[in-house]
Amino acid sequence: MPERARPPLLDRVSVRERYERLKAEVAAHARAAGRDPGSVTILAVTKFQPVAAIREAIAAGVTDIGENYAQEAQAKFAALPPVRRHFIGHVQTNKAKAIAGLFDVVQSVDRIEAGEALARAAAAAGKTLGVLVQVNISAGERYGCAPDGAQRLAERLRALANLRVDGVMAVGPITDDRGVLRHAFECAAMTFARVGGSTLSIGMSADWREAVLCGSTMIRIGTAIFGERTRPPHPLTPESSREVE
Ligand SMILES: *Cc1c(COP(=O)(O)O)cnc(C)c1O
Repeated sequence: MPERARPPLLDRVSVRERYERLKAEVAAHARAAGRDPGSVTILAVTKFQPVAAIREAIAAGVTDIGENYAQEAQAKFAALPPVRRHFIGHVQTNKAKAIAGLFDVVQSVDRIEAGEALARAAAAAGKTLGVLVQVNISAGERYGCAPDGAQRLAERLRALANLRVDGVMAVGPITDDRGVLRHAFECAAMTFARVGGSTLSIGMSADWREAVLCGSTMIRIGTAIFGERTRPPHPLTPESSREVE
């Protein structure tokens, strides 16, 4: 990817200001959709962001953060005040122990093997891990179980001790076509209705408006809070399909 110049305006605006603006905009959109603004949680996606920026977001009121890489999270979490920590990257079974130790919720469980590895690791750590079933709702997305397999996967995950199935997560298609986005998010919402739970995690910086219309209870926002991400000099193992060129 070619280096893109940072929009100068974004550089002058603080993390707090961007978060507050976003929060107000999300509340307005929720109300316009006939929803309680309190029913949509903003999860701040902190991958590639320095600790100082994350602390600023937390000081501004962020209660939930998301990371894609266990290794990166480990290096940053010790320096952060207590917030709910969500793992949103691809779950590699050989990282299950680290993930279960570091996070409160794993949003990206898309196969039973990942759930079993996490359940074992959570048991060893003496904790209960919240999990979401990641559903594939877009042709360009590598991860996520098929929507028609989500209910079965949720049942199998619910049979495991030390896991609590909280709902569904999905990544929308990369498109400006609002109709295509709505269709994909409606599919996620229908899957959520079958799986059950409290959390439908859909919507990112570019598409959270459509997600809120479709019933999102958690939008995962990086760029709109922190500005453009700069990749670390030594890229970590890619664990999120969105970050793979
Ligand atoms: C990076 C990432 C996000 C946030 O993306 P933005 O477009 O910066 O808001 C949300 N969800 C997942 C799974 C991600 O990997």
